[in-house]
Amino acid sequence: MIRIGFGNDVHRLERDRRLILAGIVISEEIGAIGHSDADALCHAVTDAVLGAMALGDIGSHFPDSDPKWKGADSFTFLREALRLALEKGFHVSNLDCTINLERPKLRPHIDAIRAKLAEQIGCETDRISVKAKTGEGLDAVGRFEAIRVEAVVLMTSA
Ligand code: MG
Repeated sequence: MIRIGFGNDVHRLERDRRLILAGIVISEEIGAIGHSDADALCHAVTDAVLGAMALGDIGSHFPDSDPKWKGADSFTFLREALRLALEKGFHVSNLDCTINLERPKLRPHIDAIRAKLAEQIGCETDRISVKAKTGEGLDAVGRFEAIRVEAVVLMTSA
């Protein structure tokens, strides 16, 4: 059986913060604001996995009103979503993500991000696609005010 899931996430950017994507520090000058470590990529992928399983969303499992998740490593959320999927017999077949960020350029980090996601998901890196786009100077991404991530995942069961 196969199931598809979609997730997206937006975080506001602020100066003198750490920007973390898939647990990797991308910038120390401009970072995302959030209750956890504000890893928008992990959040979008977590929502995609939960979505594929029709298990609600990241906010229903890990509410940002809960002090327990303050500054949390967002892989905690993804690992829990994967555990819930595995309980139903599903694992990730492939994952495709697009990160919308005006700067810095993400190309030098893409392979490390893919490898980290693959390691956490427990699959080969060639099942994980991560793409990066700018906002062409338009909308909140283009004005360098926000980061947005979209993720689609295909889950399969034996
Ligand atoms: Mg988020």
